[in-house]
Amino acid sequence: MNLPFNKPHLSGMEAKYISQAVANGHISGNGQFTKKCQSFFEERWGFKKCLLTTSCTDALEMCALLLDIQPGDEVIMPSFTFVSTALAFVRQGAKIVFVDSRTDHPGMDEDLIEELVTPKTKAIIAVHYAGVACDMDKIMTVAEKYHLWVVEDAAQAVDSYYNDKPLGGIGHLGCFSFHETKNIQCGEGGMLVINDERFSRRAEIIWEKGTNRAEFFRGETNKYGWVDIGSSFLPSDIIAAFLFAQLEELEDIQKRRCSIWHSYFSGLENWSAENGAQLPFLPEYATNNAHMFYMVCKNLEQRTALIKKMKENDILAVFHYLSLHKSPFYQSKHDGRELPESDRYSDCLVRLPMFYDLEEKNIRQITELINGNTKS
Ligand SMILES: *Cc1c(COP(=O)(O)O)cnc(C)c1O
Repeated sequence: MNLPFNKPHLSGMEAKYISQAVANGHISGNGQFTKKCQSFFEERWGFKKCLLTTSCTDALEMCALLLDIQPGDEVIMPSFTFVSTALAFVRQGAKIVFVDSRTDHPGMDEDLIEELVTPKTKAIIAVHYAGVACDMDKIMTVAEKYHLWVVEDAAQAVDSYYNDKPLGGIGHLGCFSFHETKNIQCGEGGMLVINDERFSRRAEIIWEKGTNRAEFFRGETNKYGWVDIGSSFLPSDIIAAFLFAQLEELEDIQKRRCSIWHSYFSGLENWSAENGAQLPFLPEYATNNAHMFYMVCKNLEQRTALIKKMKENDILAVFHYLSLHKSPFYQSKHDGRELPESDRYSDCLVRLPMFYDLEEKNIRQITELINGNTKS
């Protein structure tokens, strides 16, 4: 058996909707399917305004432009995250101030944020690792106290909640990813959620190359021209057509992933307790969107042995982020603080195969292999 780590799932309607988009005759951005995807997010999760982007990275770059990040501004975020979280702000000249992770969860330790705030701090980026909510009340409280912006990197957090609030809808801005490794995917894609109406108009302009094209086509202005900075952040309607086919299957996709997640959890509960490994922890305010199933091994040796054992059985288990404060690019720019929890997750966290078409028998094979009940 050859088990990949991820296998993008197809709902079956992707090709049909793509041909519909082609038949519509307009496959540039902001077309019919783009509007359908945006409305889906606005209606299902009650988001005020959504703009489809070519990636979550792009949505984060739009945030950096909207927040008017300038050279020297400080932006607080976890070190244990994907490059894009930092990259989008670094491109505008921001200095990244990294927060360590929690001991019970790879997400950033909300209690460490306030002490990192300086007069130069402009924003906090909350990353909902594995789709598990950060403690948003704590983060919003610090942000209000010091007048900071909050961006949610909800790349992994589609259809996940903080108490009864959907993630991506709590900070001033939120960003989702539809990269093929995410729950809902279109190869490459993203969504910017604008929760603070002060950003609505400008977001649309930045999205469409610094022009007021969207307003013009809505008949709100009789002139269409260059009014601000911006870029081409909007994807072709072909991509949106693919994405819409996935969104229609959201319930089914989430249900299947959750079932896989729970099979892993129950199959590994004993092993992890006996071997000093940590299973995913969900705070009482967080829901589970089953984006990922990870374990935190006791140490690097245990993880290396586990990945090796899986590989010998043609199963791909993989580690995750290398702390950004130790990355070749940012190491010399980091302020030098030790971030031991972030490093621990870099060394000890392992992710198991997680995708819609993973079968129960595959999960049993994996958990038995880890439990040591199966000869390789
Ligand atoms: C996947 C991911 C991104 C990047 O998403 P793209 O759509 O590939 O640009 C950013 N942040 C986090 C936390 C992610 O998991």
